[in-house]
Amino acid sequence: MTKPFAGLKKFALLLALCLASCLSPTHAAFIIGQSYVPLADWARANGLKCFCLKRGDEVVATNRTTRLIFDKDSRMVEVNGTDVALSFPVAGDHGALRVAQTDINTAIRPLLFPSRFTDTKRITTICLDPGHGGKDTGNHTFWRSEKTYTLALALELRDQLQKAGFNVILTRSKDTKVELPDRPALANRRGADLFVSLHFNATPTGKNEVEGPQTYCITPVGASSTDAQGEGANFGATAANRVEQRSLLFAYQVQKSLVRNLSAKDRGVRRARYWVLRDATMPAILVEGGYMTHPVESKKIYNAAYRRQMAQAIVIGILTCQKLVSPPAPALPPANRPAVRIQPSTNWPK
Ligand SMILES: [Zn+2]
Repeated sequence: MTKPFAGLKKFALLLALCLASCLSPTHAAFIIGQSYVPLADWARANGLKCFCLKRGDEVVATNRTTRLIFDKDSRMVEVNGTDVALSFPVAGDHGALRVAQTDINTAIRPLLFPSRFTDTKRITTICLDPGHGGKDTGNHTFWRSEKTYTLALALELRDQLQKAGFNVILTRSKDTKVELPDRPALANRRGADLFVSLHFNATPTGKNEVEGPQTYCITPVGASSTDAQGEGANFGATAANRVEQRSLLFAYQVQKSLVRNLSAKDRGVRRARYWVLRDATMPAILVEGGYMTHPVESKKIYNAAYRRQMAQAIVIGILTCQKLVSPPAPALPPANRPAVRIQPSTNWPK
């Protein structure tokens, strides 16, 4: 697992823990202004088995359905094999690990107990947002523009979602520029139940190594984002924070499905305050479907069959999450049931 904050945060965490040493490890402690709880105690109190690895630097917590792996000083937790960004790094305290209460509330509890975050209404309308368009080309590699492939993916995804029984609206269906605030505004105005923004990534360095999808959802209040811009902790609450747990669940299920069904590298569920995420009043996610700068993955992105598989993976992620957080659907006769199947082919261009 990656440890993006290992170096810089370590000294501050140790110093803060020394200052909080009057508290025994079985109690909550304040570390760099955040309430932290002992991970093992919280896990056992919530029915998880807990054991330590690497001399206490790694803790594995499991129940019947979920396996969580926490690493000291890391801002990522592994959830059934998929990385999820936390708001604050896991802290070490005399051989035990502590997790921020914010992360318990906004990430760990929703992932462990999704049925406690059920919506009152089923998802019927999904707003798809193909990134960029018109003069805003997005990422460029040679003569290829991101805007072309986000639209192609959105049109494919629209068709598949409609076959699965959803109403679909698009923020753009042609090569036109749409201002960022207008995108979530359309979803809000049309009463969408889920907002899905579609993008492809690029990196200026490590082009041969950096690959794989990642999925963003809104950053919890008080936390720094994990995207390149990393908007700070003092940004304040947004409309999207009211439904942040369900957004995380959709982001997690879509990311897991993308990695599994595309046999792709996992770049994890991330947090950002992108305009299209922070103004949406319904659960909202932003999918980065892979890297246009990677020599192999880019060829897949430009291939219609691969984008079809990617769209299928996103549909499966949405349907999986729908089952977890939506009230049951009215029964349909078997002949009317929508079906979504992943084709087994992995014969992508290399
Ligand atoms: Zn983009």
